[in-house]
Amino acid sequence: MARLPVSRTLDAILAVAWAPRCAACDDPLEHPTEGVVCGDCWRRVRCIEAPFCERCGVGLAEPAADRVCADCDRTGGPLTARRAAGVHAGPLRGIIHAFKYEGRRSLARPLAQLVRSVTGDWLQGADIAVPVPLHALRRWRRGFNQADDLASHLGIPVLPALRRKRHTGRQVALSRAGRLSALGDAFALAGRSRGRSTVAAIRHRSVVLVDDVITTGATVEACAAVLRRAGARKVRAVSAALAVAAR
Ligand SMILES: [Zn+2]
Ligand SMILES: [Zn+2]
Repeated sequence: MARLPVSRTLDAILAVAWAPRCAACDDPLEHPTEGVVCGDCWRRVRCIEAPFCERCGVGLAEPAADRVCADCDRTGGPLTARRAAGVHAGPLRGIIHAFKYEGRRSLARPLAQLVRSVTGDWLQGADIAVPVPLHALRRWRRGFNQADDLASHLGIPVLPALRRKRHTGRQVALSRAGRLSALGDAFALAGRSRGRSTVAAIRHRSVVLVDDVITTGATVEACAAVLRRAGARKVRAVSAALAVAAR
């Protein structure tokens, strides 16, 4: 993209006067007008391009005949198929951390753009994007829900169809089974969303759940179960990052 002389000049002034640093790697930003993360960090994001497992979303070393990884071939894989733009490591981890915990909400747009460029074929087949909700208390403390922000830039209608009933706390220390049971009844359908009955808006629709990071997938499965009970025709999940090592 050709850069306007005015933004080049502005970059030079900002770089000296304000000395902003990249929100992910902390190096000085050469082009502050282009965003809070440097071009180098964006270029170094490890995207999960084909071939990848069509159930759990992990990248595959080589194409598999049935397009699933060995794990999913053996176990059937997760009930809800998932995909992510990249691996939750390196620069992507830093970018998401800045977005979520340092209030860098301007990162929602480029992150969503990354999700669109990698998982666009899935998004095109979906009728509605449903963000994974935060508990009201956490939403209030953070000031925003990162999944809402991401979903709003995916180019499909967003329906805040779910609410989080319980404040489940941090699940990091729990095993996969522990997380699944801890989250079993944590989510419910919102009575109404965007002024209409949520059930009517969900029924027979193809839904894509949106979260910033998918770790064990327990959250995604708990949310998907609620949407399926409400009559969704198909539920899949996309996220900016997949925490592969935590599986
Ligand atoms: Zn950087
Ligand atoms: Zn798999």
